[in-house]
Amino acid sequence: MDSLINETLADLLAKTWNMAVWLVGLAVVFVPLEYFCAATPKKVFRKGLLIDLGYFFLNGLALASLLSIPMSFVAIAVQRWIPDALLEATADLNVWTKIVVGFVISETGYYWGHRLSHHVPFLWRFHAIHHSAEQLDFLVNTRAHPVDMVFSRFMALAPMYLLGFGNKGRISVSNNLVPLVVTLIPTVWGYFIHANLKWRFGPLEWLFSTPAFHHWHHTKSGPINRNFSSNLPWLDALFGTLYLPKELPQDYGIDSPVPDKLIDQLLYPLAPEVALKETRQQEPTP
Ligand SMILES: [Zn+2]
Ligand SMILES: [Zn+2]
Repeated sequence: MDSLINETLADLLAKTWNMAVWLVGLAVVFVPLEYFCAATPKKVFRKGLLIDLGYFFLNGLALASLLSIPMSFVAIAVQRWIPDALLEATADLNVWTKIVVGFVISETGYYWGHRLSHHVPFLWRFHAIHHSAEQLDFLVNTRAHPVDMVFSRFMALAPMYLLGFGNKGRISVSNNLVPLVVTLIPTVWGYFIHANLKWRFGPLEWLFSTPAFHHWHHTKSGPINRNFSSNLPWLDALFGTLYLPKELPQDYGIDSPVPDKLIDQLLYPLAPEVALKETRQQEPTP
C-alpha cells in the first residue's frame, strides 16, 4: 500500500514538473511577444493571473483521467455499433488524409459542443468561468472549469473515434498519430488565439483562427455568440456565426460576476442557488 502511494506521488510530481517546464516554455515565447506586439496595453501580472496558473496545473493534471471516463463509453460504442466496413475504410485512408479529415471532424464536434455550452444554461454555468476573464492573454486559455474542459474535449474527440479515426476504438492518444496531432494542434493554438497579440492573417483570416477572431468570442459589449470554432473560422462562416471586423473588441468578460477564488469557482456552477443572469442564449443575427 505504501509503495502504491509513493508511486502515485512520484507520478504526480513528475507530471507537475513536466507541466512547469511546459509553462516556462509558453512564457518564454508569449511574454516577450505580448510585450512587443500587444493588441492592447496590459500588465504581465494582471488580475486573475494566479487563478489561471491554478487552472493550468489542475486541468493539466486531471484532464486525461477525467476524459478517460466518457471516452471509455465511446470505445464500447465503437466496438459494438460501428460497422467494421466503416472502420476499415477509414483505416485504409493515407495518413495525411486521416489527419486533415480527422481534424475537420474534430473541429466540427468542438464547434457544436462550444455552441451548446453557450446556449444550454446548465453548460453555460461551467463555461462562464472561461468567459469571466476581463483581460486576455495566452494563459486565459487554461481558465476553464474541468467539467467544461472535459465536455469540450469529449465533443471534439468522440465523433472522430466514432468514425474510425482512433484506430479501431483503441482509446490511447499515445499510440494514435491522428488523435495526437488533432489534439496537439488546438492545444498549442489555443494559447496563441487567447494571446494579447495584434497579428492578423489578412486574406487568410477566414481559414485559420487568429487572436482577433477569438477575442471577439470573448467580447463583453459587442455581438455575443460568435466565433465558436477553435481553429477554423470558415466553420463559423458555414454555420452563420462568423464575426471578424477590422477592429478589436473594447472590453471582455460577462455581466454576471464569478467568485474570485479558484475553489469557489470550481464549486460555483454546482450550487443550486446559482442563477447566472446571462445565459447567452441569443442567436446571432445573420
Ligand atoms: Zn465560449
Ligand atoms: Zn477563450
